[in-house]
Amino acid sequence: MRLLLLGPPGAGKGTQAHRLMARYSIPQLATGDMLRKEVADRSELGRTAAEIMERGDLVSDDLIIAMIAGRIDQEDCRNGFILDGFPRSPAQAEALDTMLSSRASALDRVIEIGVDDDILVSRITGRFTCRACGAGYHDVFRKPARSGVCDVCGSTDFVRRADDNEDTVRSRLAVYHCRTEPLLPYYASRGILVTVDGMAGIDAVTEQILAALAASSTIDSDGGRPLE
Ligand code: AMP
Repeated sequence: MRLLLLGPPGAGKGTQAHRLMARYSIPQLATGDMLRKEVADRSELGRTAAEIMERGDLVSDDLIIAMIAGRIDQEDCRNGFILDGFPRSPAQAEALDTMLSSRASALDRVIEIGVDDDILVSRITGRFTCRACGAGYHDVFRKPARSGVCDVCGSTDFVRRADDNEDTVRSRLAVYHCRTEPLLPYYASRGILVTVDGMAGIDAVTEQILAALAASSTIDSDGGRPLE
């Protein structure tokens, strides 16, 4: 299954991707995570991306498209993948279509996780992650059972993303509305878009997604209308 999770920053795409990964045994391809690794490794791409990410802007389409093209050909993507954070612009969506059609393949489903902007700001600015195992927490909504200790692996080492501050979050939301939202009608016109209510609890969102995937045995892929 080739799945795309769409939604604003903080909608819960990463959380849901992890659950779907376990369920379908396919990898999550998160361009944000890939870029953060490049930044940590101080690669050439990482050095270019770091400042753009801190501003909340989008890294150039060419760099992102090259990064993902190499990834989808890896062995673990043979049975599909969950795209999280890519595509984020019309040019990226078109490049993805070209990439997949040249491999006689296509996206099966696009899940939009919808959440109001005001809720997103408070969700994002409070989140932190276990550095050892990647488990996600929140200052208010999802504290570890024992303060300062990861529920999953027991580590006491947590990190916060540099771009999870209020100013950058507002820029990231503006970029989402302007550059990424135009993808919704594009995928809707192909009959592969499903919108779920991302304001519901994490388990309820997972259930909505699984129900949508179970109901989508027949998928209309008439090519859709072109992106502007
Ligand atoms: P994310 O972890 O998906 O919120 O991404 C963090 C940041 O990485 C974004 O704010 C962008 O600066 C950059 N980024 C991630 N994915 C993309 C993409 N597909 N296109 C351009 N920039 C991206």
